[in-house]
Amino acid sequence: MAIFKRSAKTPSGFDWAGLAWMFLFFWYFSGITQLLIQLTDTSGFAGFRQAFVMSGIWLAPMLIFPRKTRVIAAVIGVVLWACSMASLGYFFIYQQEFSQSVIFIMFESNVSEAGEYMTQYFAWWIVLAFIAHTAFAIFLWTRLRPVYLPRGRAWVMATALLVAIIGYPLAKQMARHDDVASGFEAFESRIEPAVPWQMLVAYHRYTQQLDSMQGMLTSSSNIAPLKNLKDQQANLPTTLVLVIGESTNRGRMHLYGYPRDTTPNLDALKDQLQVFNNVITPRPYTIEALQQVLTFADEENPDLYLKTPSIVSVMKQAGYKTFWITNQQTMTKRNTMLTTFSEQADEQVYLNNNRNQNAAQYDGDVIEPFNKALADAAPRKLIVVHLLGTHMSYQYRYPKTFDKFTDRTGVPAGVRDDQLPTYNSYDNAVLYNDFVVSSLIKDYARTDPNGFLLYLSDHGEDVFDSAGHSTLGRNENKPTAPMYTIPFMAWASPKWRASHDWNFTAALDRPYSSSHLIHTWADLAGLSFDELDRSKSLVSDSFKVRPLMIGNPYEREQKALIDFSLMKPKAAPTVVKQ
Ligand SMILES: [Zn+2]
Repeated sequence: MAIFKRSAKTPSGFDWAGLAWMFLFFWYFSGITQLLIQLTDTSGFAGFRQAFVMSGIWLAPMLIFPRKTRVIAAVIGVVLWACSMASLGYFFIYQQEFSQSVIFIMFESNVSEAGEYMTQYFAWWIVLAFIAHTAFAIFLWTRLRPVYLPRGRAWVMATALLVAIIGYPLAKQMARHDDVASGFEAFESRIEPAVPWQMLVAYHRYTQQLDSMQGMLTSSSNIAPLKNLKDQQANLPTTLVLVIGESTNRGRMHLYGYPRDTTPNLDALKDQLQVFNNVITPRPYTIEALQQVLTFADEENPDLYLKTPSIVSVMKQAGYKTFWITNQQTMTKRNTMLTTFSEQADEQVYLNNNRNQNAAQYDGDVIEPFNKALADAAPRKLIVVHLLGTHMSYQYRYPKTFDKFTDRTGVPAGVRDDQLPTYNSYDNAVLYNDFVVSSLIKDYARTDPNGFLLYLSDHGEDVFDSAGHSTLGRNENKPTAPMYTIPFMAWASPKWRASHDWNFTAALDRPYSSSHLIHTWADLAGLSFDELDRSKSLVSDSFKVRPLMIGNPYEREQKALIDFSLMKPKAAPTVVKQ
């Protein structure tokens, strides 16, 4: 075996260039994918930075065992290389970062589907890219040489590296969090962008997710069925569609009077739509809102979502085959609840495997599986489509062809120049959402179904809309109207209108909270059962006006919910003591 030369030393005798080669070698395996993610603008910078920092730990064994430099580097390198091939290949195919969702999808899909994906995306350039990637890694390995330090200093340096990169961040996260598990979880998120940790973290999270999902599914399967369920539609072929949008404030939709032309397709369908003007969400966060929207839970009874059936299980009990098509992230820990709802359906299609919410992912992807579900042979079907809608970062929600609003035309005067790109990108996202929702309606109509499609957003979003034009996003502790005002509309097929009362003119302006959706939905679908309260159905003659409660029902300190209808645009919200 060749003896390595000691070379290129600084006056102090330390081989900085040798160290740099080593770092470059280890960083390369994470860095290549992170670099591509940066260059293609697929995600933010944090992953790139973390991958850079994490690669430093491999220098520790190199400093301690300089004589074994190439052997140790080769062993570590092979592991890193294998992981980098997986994440690079995944990026080539999906332009997405590898995450625990990928592992979930891998285990969920069967072998023939996986084979289909492979043939569909196989391209010769991928093989060439893999060869080039491997060749460059080998080239970097040939550049490695031992970096010698006096024994004692080598140990000190190696220890310092491990403490700085692993020990200190881990201790910091543990101190920041109340329990060990969430501290470790935050630490995992930091190391996840680097190989091979992404694989280990992904697998660990996947198993955790399964455990907690299993727990929720077990408890949801123990939920008692509805009492005395009767179905007007019994034995009639029926297809019903529920489209759940995301972060869309109706105040930015032309259909609801916004000056910019953000909804040309829904505007064109307007005469066929029942557009409800006064619906709000109880809570401005996806999971918290949908726990109430999809179940019998509401602000007064927030825990009912674990104890009563959801819309999906109601429809299953009524004999419908249920589908859940989602473009939302399926496997982040926060989304366990969503995945639990989706797992109640008979069939699921998961389209979004991103680790990062800020990643390009377009809702147009739902159209193909939606048409497939429409074509399913089952005579009675419920199809739930969960969109990514206009969730931030808005510029990742629409393809370039929808980049229509780029200047100040139609923008309120108070919006500053530095806010303008964000303001415009939100309108472009609304424009693309209009295309997606209208496409779903048109594709549904084309099948000449017997049934209706209902679209609502989970919550709104304040994109410099409210007074002062300084609010971006959502904050339950500083509520503004745009965070709560949601689009809510329904389309019924000619067959359905021929046999059902479908004129809701008297109901279009009723103040309504989407927390009571399940009552409206059951009423529209022609179901009745003991738990149904028609005074909570937006379309019923028995409808009763109630306060539109918003706020965190678990806030024990204050125990205060706010009535949205009493919120003045500029004044402080009126507090209603519970
Ligand atoms: Zn949401």
